[in-house]
Amino acid sequence: MDAQGVPLSAAHGPVDVLVIGGGIVGLGAAYAAHRRGLSVAVVERQQRATGASIRNFGHLCVTPQTGQALAYGTVARELWRQLAAEAGLWLRETGTVVAARHPDELALIAALRRERETAGRPGEVVELGADEVRRLTGITAPELQGGALLPRDLQADPREAVPAVTAHLQAQGVRFHLRTAVTGIRSADGGVRVETTRGPLSAGTVVVAVGHDIDQLLPELAESADVQRCTLDMLRVAMPAAVRLEAPVLTGWSLIRYGAFASLPEAAPVRARLHGDRPDLAAIDLNQMYTQRPDGTLLVGDTHARDISPSPFQTEVAADLMLAETQALFGAAPRVIERWQGVYASGRGDYLVAEPQPGVHVAVVTTGIGMTTGLGLAEATISRVFGPAPALSHEGTS
Ligand SMILES: Cc1cc2nc3c(=O)[nH]c(=O)nc-3n(C[C@H](O)[C@H](O)[C@H](O)COP(=O)(O)OP(=O)(O)OC[C@H]3O[C@@H](n4cnc5c(N)ncnc54)[C@H](O)[C@@H]3O)c2cc1C
Repeated sequence: MDAQGVPLSAAHGPVDVLVIGGGIVGLGAAYAAHRRGLSVAVVERQQRATGASIRNFGHLCVTPQTGQALAYGTVARELWRQLAAEAGLWLRETGTVVAARHPDELALIAALRRERETAGRPGEVVELGADEVRRLTGITAPELQGGALLPRDLQADPREAVPAVTAHLQAQGVRFHLRTAVTGIRSADGGVRVETTRGPLSAGTVVVAVGHDIDQLLPELAESADVQRCTLDMLRVAMPAAVRLEAPVLTGWSLIRYGAFASLPEAAPVRARLHGDRPDLAAIDLNQMYTQRPDGTLLVGDTHARDISPSPFQTEVAADLMLAETQALFGAAPRVIERWQGVYASGRGDYLVAEPQPGVHVAVVTTGIGMTTGLGLAEATISRVFGPAPALSHEGTS
């Protein structure tokens, strides 16, 4: 039934593409299908999406990716810019600042700079002196050695982006079935029938973009791909006005996670030193990083713990450590405004892409880079079925 009590199948005929999940990947699939002139509906079980896509840093960190993630991230970067122009999203094209506090981190940065230059991608990693990093971030830590600017990276405001893209797609005629959960999917007669808590829907093609909830909707597929839930502790804090981040800030703890840095031989000594010196931070699997929201508050994170059924209880030990590290870096005490737990899918590779039944396409990012790459994954999913999209109107402007 819809909100008026009418069964969905009676109120709404079949669509070309039905997307399950209204996070960034689902919205990306809806946008990709709409751009090809297809009829599209999105089924989202919440009144508004409250999953990973609004709980994150909004850091669109393309340069630190490698392989498939870099390819998706490169496409997603242009889609973010297009969506910002169309939907009026807040999007900063200020890059990322890496703050290095040890010579081995500088060496790792230099190694990626050389690798990108050799690959014919000069200018993607620009080494910075300590004074420049201080100027761009307000960092005061005396051990700061220098760092880098990754100029191609972007920043969105995660709390604003998903609602704004949803409203934009609604205004373009994409149908949203909110507070409606999908309970089953079955291919039949050249189409797909989708059972929901408000009745059945049908479509030619279905995109399953439910993030970590893939383990509930398609449990056998999730099990076969070793999908677990990764839980992350996050904080939003107020800092003195001197702490102004001209761009998102990564630290050495970030460099040993993101593929492009982490896969280089120069990452090994960084990892060994950080884990040796700070087993307490290694134990919470810290990625010490920061973004500043348009209101000036800082998003601080994050910890990582993987489980099939994670504990909902956030230990204060993790928050205390993150706050102490923030104070040490910026030389000022953060005041906590909000705390929350984020969840994303974690699997063997970076993506779970599958067609478990004819016409049913699963698109799940199985590591913490869905804001950066999810629009690219979604575009590739629709492109596989319907072919290339028309050119973006802003293409060629950077
Ligand atoms: C704390 C944190 C920080 C992060 N930081 C970054 C970052 O800075 N940069 C970056 O690139 N990535 C980051 N990530 C990762 C990124 O947020 C995720 O990879 C991405 O948002 C996943 O998007 P999604 O659309 O697949 O999932 P989600 O945003 O979780 O959306 C899935 C949607 O599906 C809906 N749904 C589920 N089951 C059903 C059903 N049966 N029927 C109908 N609807 C259903 C849910 O309600 C949900 O709205 C972070 C993640 C977290 C948690």
